[in-house]
Amino acid sequence: PVVTRFAPSPTGFLHIGGGRTALFNWLYAKKHGGKMLLRIEDTDRERSTDAAIDAILDGLKWLGIEWDGDTVYQFARAARHREVAEQLLAEGKAYYCYASAEELQAMRESARAEGRSKLYNGLWRDRDPFTPKPDVKPTIRLKAPLTGETVIEDQVQGRVVWQNENLDDLVLLRGDGTPTYMLAVVVDDHDMAVTHVIRGDDHLINAARQKQIYDALGWEVPSMSHIPLIHGPDGSKLSKRHGALGVDAYRAMGYVPAALRNYLVRLGWSHGDQEIFTTQEMIDAFDLSAIGRSAARFDFAKLESINGHYIRHSDDQALVTMFEEILPYAEGGAAIQSKLNDATRAQLLRAMPGLKERAKTLLELVKGADFIFANRPLEITEPKAVAVLTPETRALLGKLRSALEAVTDWSAANTEAAARAFAEEAGLKLGGVAQPLRVALTGKTTSPGIFDVLAVLGRQECLDRLADQAA
Ligand code: GLU
Repeated sequence: PVVTRFAPSPTGFLHIGGGRTALFNWLYAKKHGGKMLLRIEDTDRERSTDAAIDAILDGLKWLGIEWDGDTVYQFARAARHREVAEQLLAEGKAYYCYASAEELQAMRESARAEGRSKLYNGLWRDRDPFTPKPDVKPTIRLKAPLTGETVIEDQVQGRVVWQNENLDDLVLLRGDGTPTYMLAVVVDDHDMAVTHVIRGDDHLINAARQKQIYDALGWEVPSMSHIPLIHGPDGSKLSKRHGALGVDAYRAMGYVPAALRNYLVRLGWSHGDQEIFTTQEMIDAFDLSAIGRSAARFDFAKLESINGHYIRHSDDQALVTMFEEILPYAEGGAAIQSKLNDATRAQLLRAMPGLKERAKTLLELVKGADFIFANRPLEITEPKAVAVLTPETRALLGKLRSALEAVTDWSAANTEAAARAFAEEAGLKLGGVAQPLRVALTGKTTSPGIFDVLAVLGRQECLDRLADQAA
């Protein structure tokens, strides 16, 4: 059975790249009827925080990526990591290294001077028997092969070969008895029965080190897939401005989880030229072999257009719920929150077909719905809207108000018929009437269909808003 895992280090928020890695692991597991496990790599005690752990768990849940079984915390497994290091020591596959900090520094310097990538000179490698130094707490180092090659058959990168003469005897256990990251990952992946490691290609060099540990232990190496990192639109390292943000930031910007998932799956993976995938389609189509080898480029415009697609195709009632959920992140959201009640929710639902056509994000959806929650008299600040209201159009609004007042059955069709008749009588095009009407009712020059706006606001509110602006 396929077992994948997502193994974030809780040193910051769930980065957008981490979200994609989690998604790929999840899709691969789902596709093969397997499991995706979650391991929090909190071995670095100084940099790991509870806040980061919460952000990761929240981010995954919000994205809709569910992991199987209990969350594994790496630090809690330190005793097991130590046990494996000591087992390798007992088998002669690892050794105690008493090199002092000064000696190690000197080794690094001479390696640098000679242009060697191998830093450790094997000082303690074959001392047998040896005399411990009472003042130094030894590390345990892997007795790595000196000759030959270390090879990874990577599902994405292909065959990757390292010359062993360039690889150091890596430290497995530090002097204070804590495991190194390299050892912990191998032991955990083995104990968790992970069959497929899918992670960023910044870990490719670690794969060589980890392979050597697997080999020393006689354990089978999981299938490896190192996926190219996400780059900025110009191909450079992803910057904050270009999207290097936490998943929570995308939530706050009004992206819909399903849309972000859809966008992320296409970052580095393709399936013909299909852009939009239901979750099931993603699961069915996903394959490691279709992941490209070159870096994916982050494109906000694309993300927005996919998000807009998801908003347009969402059910109106579901959008009312999403609308409420985004309010804490929206400008003026608190004021809207305080006005939410059964009546305004019903107005929102009624307006949703028109609103969702125009919104690329949930924040835009909130902005578009401003008119429902606005206080009278409307504060009209948008310069284009201000310009529409002249003495002439204000006089026109007064007459239009009288014409609309005659409409008793306040449907969009009836108010539209009245407005058309009024425009014709005044010798105007419908737009010449509709635009001042729109500004008077919404304070803006763009809105959903104006007669839908009338229907949403209701007769009395419309007549009152018109009276506010009419001269
Ligand atoms: N903890 C590592 C990270 O957050 C990932 C390790 C792995 O996937 O093997 O980058």
